[in-house]
Amino acid sequence: MEAEKNTTSNNNAVNVPRLEPTEKDQNSQKRDDIDARIARIDFRCSGCYMHELVHYFGREPPFALGIRYKEDNYVLRDPFQPPPQAGRPVPEYYISMGSKCSSCLKIVCKSSGCSFYYTATFCVPCGKSKLKDWPVDAQTRFRKQLSANQSD
Ligand SMILES: [Zn+2]
Ligand SMILES: [Zn+2]
Repeated sequence: MEAEKNTTSNNNAVNVPRLEPTEKDQNSQKRDDIDARIARIDFRCSGCYMHELVHYFGREPPFALGIRYKEDNYVLRDPFQPPPQAGRPVPEYYISMGSKCSSCLKIVCKSSGCSFYYTATFCVPCGKSKLKDWPVDAQTRFRKQLSANQSD
């Protein structure tokens, strides 16, 4: 019985070296793909202290085809999206979590309680101090946002 078992495993061992190169390639490809899908960039909102790991910081996320933000954004890939096929880039779902305040460079999320967008992203404290330099419609928009937050 022991001898028979050994023969079987020996036969397998003979087959393994032949398959090994392809298996290794596939594995390393898979690993690269998984690595690119691991969120490693720390995103921490200075307003609400929301903390999230995101995949990308910048203006042109490689997984969001044809997207170019006007300012650097913290971008999260859709975690439920299946991995794209190799060599066939497809548009992915993604979420911009936030960006940096264009004035004080603090990180802020997209929540209306944390940031305001007028020509660029501002954190709420900077928005309040810049408000008087803005055109009336931007001031109105920001004031509305602030009062909406207070009633929440
Ligand atoms: Zn926030
Ligand atoms: Zn600011």
